[in-house]
Amino acid sequence: MRLIFLGAPGAGKGTQAKALAKIKNIPHISTGDILRQAVVKQATLGVLAKSYMDRGELVPDTLIIGLIKERLGQTDAQQGWILDGFPRNLDQAQALNELLQQMKQNYDQVFYFDVSQELLIERMLGRGRQDDNEATVRRRLEVYQEQTVPLIKFYRDIDSLQVVDGNADVKTVSSSLRELLF
Ligand code: AMP
Repeated sequence: MRLIFLGAPGAGKGTQAKALAKIKNIPHISTGDILRQAVVKQATLGVLAKSYMDRGELVPDTLIIGLIKERLGQTDAQQGWILDGFPRNLDQAQALNELLQQMKQNYDQVFYFDVSQELLIERMLGRGRQDDNEATVRRRLEVYQEQTVPLIKFYRDIDSLQVVDGNADVKTVSSSLRELLF
């Protein structure tokens, strides 16, 4: 099972990805989590990524694509995965397609977690993460609109997209997701 979770920051895709990955016994691959761990460890990747993350900007594609290439090549990722927070723009989506082609793999489904703007802001400000302050939240939503929203059309046009109403509570969203799974 290879799934891509799309949605704005605060859409709840991380929560859903984590729970489903556990049930299906496949890795939950969150580029944001990997970057945050690298920041804590003061690894080169973290040092390079931190200033972008603190400003709510996307980390450069070359870094992220390299990170994903390495992660998808690991043993535990050969039977499936859930990608959360990647791809984040059209170039990353293209790079993912090429990478999967090289690996003779393909994704099975793409889920877009649709959540109203008001609820996104409420959820993000309630999380208390370092990059969840008001200015950064605003910038992350702008970056999402400009760079990530085009992916909805990209996957819809190739008939890969399924929309999950993410406005409800965690349990309700989980069951909507489960109903859409092949
Ligand atoms: P997230 O936890 O997915 O909200 O990601 C937190 C931050 O990590 C984002 O605001 C970006 O700065 C960075 N980030 C995570 N995933 C990506 C990605 N696919 N491309 C670029 N930057 C990313």
